[in-house]
Amino acid sequence: SEERSLNFIEEIIENDLNSGKYKTLVTRFPPEPNGYLHIGHAKAICLNFGLTQKYGGYTNLRFDDTNPVTEKTEYVNSQQEDIKWLGFQWKNELYTSDYFDTLYDFAVKLIEKDLAYVDHSTADEIAAMKGTPTEPGKNNSYRSRSIQENLDLFMRMKNGEFADGVCTLRAKIDMAHTNMLMRDPIIYRIKHAHHHRTGDKWCIYPMYDFAHGQSDSIEEITHSICTLEYVSHRELYDWFIEKLEIFPSHQYEFARLNLNYTVMSKRKLLQLVNQGVVSGWDDPRMPTISGLRRRGYTPESIREFCDRIGIAKRDNLIELSLLEFCVREHLNKTANRVMAVLDPIKMVISNYPEGQSETLYGENNPEAEDKGGSREIPFSKTLWIEREDFMEVPAKKWFRLAPGAMVRLKHAYIVKCEDFVKDVEGNVTEIHCSYIPESKSGEDVSGINVKGTIHWVSAAHAKTAEIRMYDRLFSVESPDAEEGDFKDYLNPGSMEVIKNAYIEPYLASADLSSRYQFIRKGYYCLDKDSTAQHLIFNRTVGLKDAWAK
Ligand code: ATP
Ligand code: MG
Ligand code: MG
Repeated sequence: SEERSLNFIEEIIENDLNSGKYKTLVTRFPPEPNGYLHIGHAKAICLNFGLTQKYGGYTNLRFDDTNPVTEKTEYVNSQQEDIKWLGFQWKNELYTSDYFDTLYDFAVKLIEKDLAYVDHSTADEIAAMKGTPTEPGKNNSYRSRSIQENLDLFMRMKNGEFADGVCTLRAKIDMAHTNMLMRDPIIYRIKHAHHHRTGDKWCIYPMYDFAHGQSDSIEEITHSICTLEYVSHRELYDWFIEKLEIFPSHQYEFARLNLNYTVMSKRKLLQLVNQGVVSGWDDPRMPTISGLRRRGYTPESIREFCDRIGIAKRDNLIELSLLEFCVREHLNKTANRVMAVLDPIKMVISNYPEGQSETLYGENNPEAEDKGGSREIPFSKTLWIEREDFMEVPAKKWFRLAPGAMVRLKHAYIVKCEDFVKDVEGNVTEIHCSYIPESKSGEDVSGINVKGTIHWVSAAHAKTAEIRMYDRLFSVESPDAEEGDFKDYLNPGSMEVIKNAYIEPYLASADLSSRYQFIRKGYYCLDKDSTAQHLIFNRTVGLKDAWAK
């Protein structure tokens, strides 16, 4: 893509590298394995991996697995697959849970410095003593416990002597601090739960703020990039690093990606999966990377999208149509053109010999340098064409089929409509044409010029396919911002299934990595549920933005 000016993170990094503050750039992508990755994560992936591709150094993949209840190995695996598919490779695969021993030692160190204490208050009591943004909080009696008592109690917390919620470990900072997060935040809580990696070894787990920055520091991450919700956490991030006297990682924040007509939190996407609103995390309507992949998106188009939206410092809502634009642009360059008839009507060529057929050739992609090679297309007396390409009473400037009118059949001949057949209800069921043998594409000596070209498939050779057409999952721009539950705003027409489309026989050899332009229709790819007996194609995106104003 084109040259663009540096974003603010690149400016910081260039300064830090030029001044010698850091010799090597180290970034990380830190997903919590509590769901599948979505397009917002793709933004963070492209940013973190993109920076080390540009400036050298490396990027770690760190699973932020401090919450045993919501995390699963299935998610760890899918997240890795998605990052690789996007085209990135991490240096080290790491888990916050691998640092549980170190983090425990860090907590002990804080206690020894009289900077942490075990608090036996209930959650409600803690909240009541916290104060408000305009009023200071209050110290409770546990805050003055001795270092020795705290060391003993914390060890007993670790040893499983207390039930969930009985006590917590809190940092001793300042209950009157202007930043509410600095008012003695909880850093460890008791949770007797099985962890997907550490099993039952631990019954105390560090809170995000006591795990994230320290993990960055352990890995000597130089630039820890996160989204804007963490701006107020930065003070705490720096406080722990300073008090623990560990490697000075720094946190930088950028605006999270929000896309219109969808929701983006893993928690909400999980609801859609669990309640059967979609068929799974990789339902082609989902904003997940696996959903986009199944829908036919390419890694290139997603990377281009992330590049185009840039790095913002303020929250904003990005148009889904920009994502669609990016995939359309990439597929236009790379997808083979084929013919598929989605709403078929029969065309009989009266002057073509019965029982005969011939092989025509079609170039696969006029946009590609080598034209994508060519393929064989069988032609015969009876064809399927698109119902909408015929009008009994033609409109003004109608260049397609109508009684007496001529069109070119793509890659084949010019035909003239001689007659048509209707059923008792008045629906057109068959169109009768004559063809002009001298008008064959590529060797046309007929001297006839026609304005319209339509697509078709030979009835005797066509394969039947199911076509799944997708649209926006929600009918409002910001389902999160609406009144009531976000699921009240689902688009009832988000999926339309065409059971009996006819496609070129060439498409029977499609595999999951192939993407096609069904000419005049849009971009399509094979679905993973497809079998040789039952072909299924997904529509990635139409040829034009159907929603454009
Ligand atoms: P979710 O609510 O979807 O679970 P999260 O921020 O809790 O989001 P994490 O797994 O913790 O999800 O995210 C891993 C990384 O991806 C974090 O650094 C986070 O900042 C980043 N990230 C998550 N969502 C977005 C988004 N919409 N835009 C940009 N970055 C994001
Ligand atoms: Mg998170
Ligand atoms: Mg989350």
